[in-house]
Formats: sequence, structure tokens, C-alpha cells
Amino acid sequence: MFLNQEIIRKKRNGDALSAQEIEFFVAGITTGATTEGQIAALAMAVYFNDMNMDERVAFTLAMRDSGQVMEWRSLDLPGPVLDKHSTGGVGDVVSLMLGPMIAACGGFVPMISGRGLGHTGGTLDKFDSIPGYCTVPDPALFRKVVREVGVAIIGQTAELAPADKRFYSIRDTTATVESVAMITGSILSKKLSAGLDALVMDVKVGTGAFMPSFEKSVELAESIVAVGNGAGTRTSAILTDMNESLGPVAGNALEVRLAMDYLTGRSRPARLHEVTMALCAEMLVLGGLAATEADARVRLQAGLDSGNAAERFARMVFALGGPADLVERPDAYLEQAPIMLPVPSLQGGFATATDCRSLGLAVVSLGGGRRRPEDPIDFAVGLSHLAELGQPLAVGEPLAMVHARTQAAADQAVREVQAAYQIGAVAAAPNPVTYRTIRP
Ligand code: URA
Repeated sequence: MFLNQEIIRKKRNGDALSAQEIEFFVAGITTGATTEGQIAALAMAVYFNDMNMDERVAFTLAMRDSGQVMEWRSLDLPGPVLDKHSTGGVGDVVSLMLGPMIAACGGFVPMISGRGLGHTGGTLDKFDSIPGYCTVPDPALFRKVVREVGVAIIGQTAELAPADKRFYSIRDTTATVESVAMITGSILSKKLSAGLDALVMDVKVGTGAFMPSFEKSVELAESIVAVGNGAGTRTSAILTDMNESLGPVAGNALEVRLAMDYLTGRSRPARLHEVTMALCAEMLVLGGLAATEADARVRLQAGLDSGNAAERFARMVFALGGPADLVERPDAYLEQAPIMLPVPSLQGGFATATDCRSLGLAVVSLGGGRRRPEDPIDFAVGLSHLAELGQPLAVGEPLAMVHARTQAAADQAVREVQAAYQIGAVAAAPNPVTYRTIRP
């Protein structure tokens, strides 16, 4: 028999909680037996006194088990169940290509994606820009699409990790989000409820990253790898660069177009390609579908070159209610903004740095993201042709194109993008695309 106030007192005093104490507390979060004040108090105690890895594993598993945990064994799938998660970025359209690419190589990807958060875009919002695509299919359809196509990308249902939903909303309003222990549990409880064999985590580093410094990104990556494996799911993490938009576009429908251009080979921007290949290769190796990273890359490239990956994307879209010919005729379905305006560079020189967070916020200001959770999204708006770091620019040459609903919104976005870029006389050395891979 436990008491919530005794559990809080123990953590407040800096002692480690047992798995049973954590399970008791988390069960109360789900049933409502644990009060909002107690949840906030425990969150603050953990914020200051942290959790060791055993506590984090127990916390993650308790939150995962607070709702439905999917199982795939009964389908007897002929390959591993794999997924990737990212801490969130700008112009990060990787999931849209990665799922179909893994499916083309024999993996099965039941991806539960989220909405945009703050300045970062959300995979779910990108799919919502496809007319007819159902991001909340019933579980039977979700399983059918995963089994037959190899990939289904959908939104989170209320049945998955409900304890995290309540806990996160209280952390959000009590200044307790920024704890590596709690972020680890929050992310992994949701991802592991998809019943994965292996998970690769993309932890962003840089001016557009969720974590505030390189060291904190490393700390989160190491925590996720330790806890994911401790919870029984093979887990690796790759630290990737978010000092500039990952792709040359940011905005929902614009990113769907880019993903399709990537899959068909019409356009494969180098940084986006490298991050996508690195994450996919790690997934294939973790899932036992490739012996080495080099072998994985050969197979992934073959899946792209043969058109298999593009075909998987098209089949997934159709199976979930979208148009059968989206890849062939994107203009017929994806909305385009009425106003397109270039962003002239105010100086000549080289793009030396971007405040990537501000670029993401410029997309939010255009209406491409939410200020409040209930806000609608304008799928058509965003930025395209974003200048890469190191690119030479003459005065007046475009830093980007703004896609806007109104002239006023376009003018404001032009100013925001100009302010987000630093132009210098000397080209800086390029940032690495990936920094480090952390394995168990
Ligand atoms: N994203 C999550 O899902 N949870 C956190 O705690 C932080 C970011």
C-alpha cells in the first residue's frame, strides 16, 4: 500500500523510487486518483532531483502500459516492426520518405505521429494537407495497411499512453517540461506503445532544436538509448543538425510535395538525403534487415531507384483514403497559396547562420502552425527555396520564397526571414549533417 504524498516526499528528499511506487503513482494519473497538485509536485521534485535509469525505465513502462499497447505478433509479419522519432525540427520531412523506404526494404512501420509543437512542424499536419487522407483510421484499417503496404502513418489516439497526456499537460503549465528523465519517459512511452522491435531516435542539435545545447542533446540521446533498451526495445539515436532548415521548404503541403519529389527522384536535396539515409540505415541494421550500414544504404538506394519506395507512399495514401494519383498529379490536390513573394537578401556575401527557430516561427505566423492547440492550420503556406548555409548571395538575391494567404502576412514573413539569416563576408565551414550515433 503506497501513499502519493509519501512517494512525492521521497523524491523531494532526493531518494530513488521503486518500480512499484512509480507504477502506483502513474496508475493514479490515469484513473484520476492522483490529484493535479500531486502530479505537479512530483514533476517538480523530479525536475530538481532527477531519476536514475532504473526509475526512468519503470516510469516509461508504467506510462506505456497506462493505455493500449499494440501487438503485431498475431499478424505473423515477415519482417521487423520499426519506427523512428525525432525531437522536432524545421523542414524535417524525413518521416514521409523514411516509412516507405523502410517498407521497400522489408520492414513494417506503424508510425504514430504528432502535430506541430512550437516552431517545429508535425508529420500529422503534413498528412492532413492531403485531401481524404485519414489520420485517425480504426485500428483494423491501421493494421491492414501496415500488413499490406508495410507502412501507415497516422495520428495519436486517446488510447495510447493516456498517463503521458495528462502528465505532459501539467508539466507544460508548471515549468517542468525541461527534464531529461521526464522527456525520455514521455517520448518513449508513446513510441513504445506501438509495439516496436526497434526504434531510432533523431535528436536534433542547433538553433532550431528542442534541446537548448549540444550537451543536453547528447544527454537526451543517451538517456533514450539506455531507457529504450532497458524497456526491451532495441534503440539507437543519431544526433543531427538543426542549425538550418533540413530541407529547402518548410510548410505542410510544400513538404508533402518535397517528399514525393524526393521519392520519385525529381529532387533529392543533399542534407535531407543524408539524414534520411543515416536514420533508415540505422533502422535496417537494428531490425536485422541489413548486416552493415553500407549494406543498408545499398538496399535503400535500390528501393528508391526501382520506384518501390515511391509506390509504397502512393499505396499508403490511397489505402488511408487519399487520392490514388497524388504522386502523379500533386497540383490537382495540394493547395497552393495565392501569394508568392521572394525574400531579398539585404546584404551581399554568404549565408553564415540562421536562427532556425525563427524560421519555424515565420511559418507559424503565416498560419502554417498553431499559436494555440485549437487553432486551424493553413496547409498551403510556408517557405520554399530556402538558401543553404554557405551559399553566396548578391544584394537582392532571394533568401527564400514566401507562400502566403495575404499580402500583410507575406510582408511580415519577408521581414522575419531576413532577420533570421546572418550574411557575412566569408563563407563559414559547413555544419556537419550528423554529429554522432549512440548505440546501446
Ligand atoms: N515531446 C514529448 O512528447 N514529450 C516531452 O516531454 C517533450 C517533447
